[in-house]
Amino acid sequence: MIPTRVLEEKRDGGAIESGTLEAFLAGFLDGSVRDYQMSAFMMAAFHQGLDAGETEVFVRTMLGSGTVLDLSYLPGPRVDKHSTGGVGDKVSIALAPLAAALGIFVPMMSGRGLGHTTGTLDKLEAIPGFRTDLSLDEFQRVLKQVGCAMIGQTAEIAPLDRRLYALRDVTATVPIRSLIAASIMSKKLAEGLNGLVLDVKVGAGAFLPEEHDALDLAQTMVDIGTGRGLHTVALLTAMDRPLGCAIGNALETAEAISCLKGEGPADLRAIVRLQAVEMLRLAEPAISEPAALSRVDAALDSGAALERLVRLVEAQSGDASVVDSPARLMTSEHTLDVVAERVGTVVQVLPRVLGEGVIVLGGGRTHMDQKPDLSVGFQMHVRPGDDVSVGDRLATVHARDTEGSRAGEGIVRRAVVVGDSGEAAELRPLISHRVDEHGTVSDCRFEEP
Ligand code: URA
Repeated sequence: MIPTRVLEEKRDGGAIESGTLEAFLAGFLDGSVRDYQMSAFMMAAFHQGLDAGETEVFVRTMLGSGTVLDLSYLPGPRVDKHSTGGVGDKVSIALAPLAAALGIFVPMMSGRGLGHTTGTLDKLEAIPGFRTDLSLDEFQRVLKQVGCAMIGQTAEIAPLDRRLYALRDVTATVPIRSLIAASIMSKKLAEGLNGLVLDVKVGAGAFLPEEHDALDLAQTMVDIGTGRGLHTVALLTAMDRPLGCAIGNALETAEAISCLKGEGPADLRAIVRLQAVEMLRLAEPAISEPAALSRVDAALDSGAALERLVRLVEAQSGDASVVDSPARLMTSEHTLDVVAERVGTVVQVLPRVLGEGVIVLGGGRTHMDQKPDLSVGFQMHVRPGDDVSVGDRLATVHARDTEGSRAGEGIVRRAVVVGDSGEAAELRPLISHRVDEHGTVSDCRFEEP
């Protein structure tokens, strides 16, 4: 294998033969293929795409580069959920303990903020003391004790993906559909699961905003999982507006906690409930959808899911008093209410503007070793379709200083588009498609809250 031949072939739109691609990836792992050569390959793949055979080589090599967990000793089904990433997406923090309360083991490995999206690990670290860097042994101990454990990708899990991902992140080559699929699925396959629910975001705040791309990604991931005996279900969920009202790490953690208390935004609660239903149906294939929904609601309403969250936080060394007193989460120094300057109807709340706004406020990363300020962000008070009068609050900016508050105000004004009174807000259905091994259902089965 001559690296430059591989680059030429991909640059010119060819498909790389399996053995050659395997050798190229092995060369990257042993250092004989350099970072700059792999970066060039990624940019060529971004423009030319990767076919199913090439994608399969990536999945196989990423998975084989590390450990595959054997969790078969656990006394129950193992099901995880993974989101492709969006703005305000704090679902995992509520969903993992909820699923654990339903008797499912959830070995969740999550990511940090990426691009304009915040990450579950950063959100969890807004809880004082919470450790996301458990060793694999500690991870398995918490999982067995609590029913769920939440950590980052360890050095042992799919190290090839870890290295490729870091390179893609800084070379503008994250949005390669088949590599997103291979990257996510190699990590999930390494978790030793019985079932997997994928939340594929679609709309302006998603990495792949177009519906046909999101559907293709969903199908590719379902095919990869199913082909390896992992029952996989993907839901396409709306990211043409933020999910829920809180955007920014600590604010999102507080909102996820409130969801488990039966409070908080209806769209967040709906997504959490429906993903829990999908997890339960994968864990217990004989259960009907209505029966699954009533078990999920009982776990929420009885406080069982909230109690699991407390146990999870304690087991991972966090300060569980945040559950009763969210003010103990990292909070910002400065807040500023941004109010409407005209009468009208909110027609859009632009997720990407707010997601990038969190980075401007210091809550994200512009390079990998940066430590984000977990306290900053936006608490939205309006959603598309809401009528506003002059002086009504649109959002509260949480910032570290007055300069940040002022920048935040400008961001809110760009993100919240107020049209004439009564003007329609055109929104995607909250959940538009469901993809599994039997096919795609495209009529929205679920009601918009
Ligand atoms: N999340 C991942 O884990 N990998 C990607 O490539 C994109 C999102």
